Amino acid sequence: MSLFIQSRVQILLPLPLGMPLGGALDYILEGDLAELDAVKLGDFVTVPLSGRTVQGVVWDLNPSADGYDMAKLKPVLSKLELPPLPDLLREFIDWVSAYSLADKGSVLKMALSVPRAFHSEKKITLYRLAPSLPEKLTAARRTVVDAGQGISGLSIKDWALKAGVSTGVIRAMVKAGMMQGEEISGEKPFAEPHADQAGYSLSKEQQQAADHMSELVRADKFKTILLEGITGSGKTEVYFEAVAAALQHSEKPQILVLVPEISLTAQWLERFEKRFGVEPINWHSELTPAQRRRAWWSVMTGQGRVVVGARSALFLPFQNLKLIIVDEEHSATFKQEEGVIYHGRDMAVVRARGADCPIVLASATPSLETLMNADSGKYDWLYMGSRHGEAVLPDMHIIDMRRYKLKSGTWLAEPLKNAIQKTLDNKEQTLLYLNRRGYAPLTLCRTCGHRMECKECSAWLVEHRKFDKLECHHCGYHQKKPSSCPSCAAEGAMTACGPGIERLAEEVEGLFPEVRIAVMASDEITSPAAMREIIHSIENHEVDIIIGTQIVTKGYHFPLLTLVGVVDSDLGLDGGDPRAAERTWQQLEQVAGRAGRAEHRGRVVFQSYMPDHPVLKALVSGDRDAFLQQEADNRENQNMPPFGKLAAIIISGRDRDAVLTACRMLARSAPKGDGFTILGPVPAPMSYLRGQHRYRFLVKSDKKINIQKLIRFWLENNGKPKAVRIQIDIDPYSFT
Ligand code: ADP
Ligand code: ZN
Repeated sequence: MSLFIQSRVQILLPLPLGMPLGGALDYILEGDLAELDAVKLGDFVTVPLSGRTVQGVVWDLNPSADGYDMAKLKPVLSKLELPPLPDLLREFIDWVSAYSLADKGSVLKMALSVPRAFHSEKKITLYRLAPSLPEKLTAARRTVVDAGQGISGLSIKDWALKAGVSTGVIRAMVKAGMMQGEEISGEKPFAEPHADQAGYSLSKEQQQAADHMSELVRADKFKTILLEGITGSGKTEVYFEAVAAALQHSEKPQILVLVPEISLTAQWLERFEKRFGVEPINWHSELTPAQRRRAWWSVMTGQGRVVVGARSALFLPFQNLKLIIVDEEHSATFKQEEGVIYHGRDMAVVRARGADCPIVLASATPSLETLMNADSGKYDWLYMGSRHGEAVLPDMHIIDMRRYKLKSGTWLAEPLKNAIQKTLDNKEQTLLYLNRRGYAPLTLCRTCGHRMECKECSAWLVEHRKFDKLECHHCGYHQKKPSSCPSCAAEGAMTACGPGIERLAEEVEGLFPEVRIAVMASDEITSPAAMREIIHSIENHEVDIIIGTQIVTKGYHFPLLTLVGVVDSDLGLDGGDPRAAERTWQQLEQVAGRAGRAEHRGRVVFQSYMPDHPVLKALVSGDRDAFLQQEADNRENQNMPPFGKLAAIIISGRDRDAVLTACRMLARSAPKGDGFTILGPVPAPMSYLRGQHRYRFLVKSDKKINIQKLIRFWLENNGKPKAVRIQIDIDPYSFT
């Protein structure tokens, strides 16, 4: 007697469902698929969806009974022959979605962002000679047998090459049973890193930090460690020891290193290769589809060991994660601002907790959040206060720009120019730092004052003279610089205002005509190979003056670089961002840290119109504790993170009236109660972006309030407003 069994399951589809709080969908299992254990959690399946067949992942085998009528549910169509998505990754996706209030399908989509994830890994078949072969063989077959003694596995093509026969001969032998095939993974495996070769001999301070981390790795338990060390103290070398310990301690361990901008890690990759003999597995958005696939499957099958990646690497299907490192943990680039909005560093801690393994947060300028967790004892705190070898921290000076009158269109004051000259005379290198791409941030008409603005954003167009265009840095819109004013038609009146690094380079060329200049900005250096080339030219002293944006602050080590000039230290200090001062301090401390990293003493010069600002005072006095304490006090007084919680809700759409209607609706239904306030709606600081009008609510709450629950309750009680998009940003970092 056969029973017709049916059961209900939930399948998560890697698709955004267009609603912020969406989750998995209900289907039924029937026939063979309904049998015990035929379908397991994490299995890949196909299901029907609005007339199409789509692929998804089994998310729940016992969903709660209420809700759907079984009779209305569609059946799961098939199960794919693939290993299931690891449990820990499923749990992580659930966690990220619950925390960020992003729909689960969008989070799953990030985890499956690999071409043909739903097709099993590439397979190839290798052949060997059968153990017993007939006595009589044709001449061609005899050659094959003679050539094949002791060979354990070759493809048909390689057999043919080896024996000097046609592939037809080999195929016939396979058919006749004279050769046996074995299917293996067709992806070229990644080479195993060598953990046993010794690294540098470490200083006492370095050794203590390395030992502590290695011990935690061997304890094989979740623990967060802050590895704080001044710039040049050797943090990378030290955490390499923890990586080595993880490689040695267990069978097939997997290790993840998150870095802020993977395309800028040329030097880091070379150091890794020097230490471990092989390149690590790279994971970032610029991989080719084939590279992506190879990396993803090597992690999924457990073959891949060390992955270095951008924040999205957190969503790789690790089978045996044993250690996570977050390098430059303070970096704002770990925050993803589009789609699923999450902070990579925070989610890395969650990922490590799930995997029950240690995580190291490394930085010379840790975030206030991390410092507070270290201070309270929640994190272990390792500190390295001296530079490797003979190097010492650079001298720091402020140039009070109010005392110098600069010729219009120039940005370097006398003392900085003199310092550059002196550095050139010493045959050393200078870095001029200005965090502004392009030639000039604003173009205006001298006759009528008209400013060139983006039509799609509330932002000025930035001139890029090298590419002969004005460009919007928010949406990418660009046009030619007009020869006459679009407003008053005055000829030749359009004037560049303010400096970008291109313009600064022009000034430097004028002052020092003979010197070799390298301009470093993300739009100048478009590939990792180009980056490598520039870095080598700096290392080989083919460059005298480097002019760069924040991409030069990222951990580079140039022994001959002894002077750093910060052209505009005040940039970034104002604006509505509660982290503005902290962030500016981190950036300037990092860029200052590029100076004098070897035997030559370094010098840093800050040009500022606000020389008394606490950020500058902290930099020059080196009293960062007092500065951070003041920052912490400010935030505590305002109940801002990490003392209170903050979330932004952005309502956007092309039609301003629809956006305003949605805002009014949300404002009316905003929850009221103790321990939280909802501010807004007000136009977002970027009130017009890529053609979308944007309004913002801010939810501020005490720490003990479940802010996700509050927002969920609010939005779920609202119905989806028409023609607008609602984005939720828990703990916003960007105040645009
Ligand atoms: P940080 O990341 O803390 O700024 P790095 O790890 O980049 O410092 O180290 C600075 C420089 O010193 C690098 O060139 C590094 O290879 C070198 N270094 C650090 N520790 C040692 C050591 N114990 N022996 C030899 N070189 C070292
Ligand atoms: Zn724009």
